[in-house]
Amino acid sequence: MTFTYAPGWAEPLFILFLFILGLCIGSFLNVVIARVPEGLSIVRPGSRCPRCGHVLSWYENIPVLSWLGLRGKCRGCGTRISPRYVLVELLTGLLFLACLKRFDWTYALVPALVLVFLLVPLTFIDLEHWILPLSLTVPGIVAGIVLAIPLGQDAVVDAVVGATVGFLTFRFMEYVGWKVFKREALGGGDKFLVALLGAFLGWQSLLGILFFSSLQGSIVGVAMLALTGRAGPRGEEKEDPSKAPAGEEPEAPASTMTWEFTKPGLPWWKRVALVIPCLLLQDIPDVTLDEETGEDQWEPGVTNIPFGPWLALAGLELMLLGPLLARVLSPEVAMMLGGAR
Ligand SMILES: [Zn+2]
Repeated sequence: MTFTYAPGWAEPLFILFLFILGLCIGSFLNVVIARVPEGLSIVRPGSRCPRCGHVLSWYENIPVLSWLGLRGKCRGCGTRISPRYVLVELLTGLLFLACLKRFDWTYALVPALVLVFLLVPLTFIDLEHWILPLSLTVPGIVAGIVLAIPLGQDAVVDAVVGATVGFLTFRFMEYVGWKVFKREALGGGDKFLVALLGAFLGWQSLLGILFFSSLQGSIVGVAMLALTGRAGPRGEEKEDPSKAPAGEEPEAPASTMTWEFTKPGLPWWKRVALVIPCLLLQDIPDVTLDEETGEDQWEPGVTNIPFGPWLALAGLELMLLGPLLARVLSPEVAMMLGGAR
């Protein structure tokens, strides 16, 4: 069963409404991104400046416009407000429009919007904290299966199988990573995100998600490693040089490594040329988990990338660009990689 609603003459208004809804939800997702990793309530208290506690009034809380009006600064203390807030709002609004373009005013638009609602905060939390909170992924898996119900029994089976196979595949890869390579290749939260994507997009999408996330993640990771000395973002707290005690040099990434391409003063093209041979021929600097202190003390090593954002990106690409892939690739390849249903 699918249902379609044709908005007719008022369509531009509906589109504008969906975009503004996306901006407002993006504004809420900023709260989720800031508070869920800290274990704080996302409902109370109202938004306030993390530095001076200045409580935001309604006109300081309008998506995008407030940030522009305040020129990215707190009205109370002048602290810079991260452009991430605007980025998340605009991204959510634009992804909502992309979902509309893909699914039109059909029921399929609903699970698509919910998936965006889940993937945006998971991506930004993983980029900053290197975690995918279970408080987002587990309800997300349930939501993916429940939202498949109006699409019929086959869709529900696809969702349940997708979540189960996705979870078990990554659980197995996790196990192999530990046993064979003696290092953590995947974050523990990744298997729940794959299960979530499998629930929303069906088991047919899993191979494509694995393929596109690994491909894009490794290309960008290697490029970042070459250009900046790190494949992924730094961990929390350590990246802020202003917090380092006076007189002490903040630890530069290059100083912890012995790789050729990280030597200071190399032109960027030499770094790029050296990074692949180094990765293949040299031992990776020790980045394994500290056995005594456990996971809390884990710091991202230079070659680690947070995989969540790449999984999320691959899932969105398959969902939004599925029909395009089917046209560009041969039908067999497209079917194997599985566009959205
Ligand atoms: Zn302030």
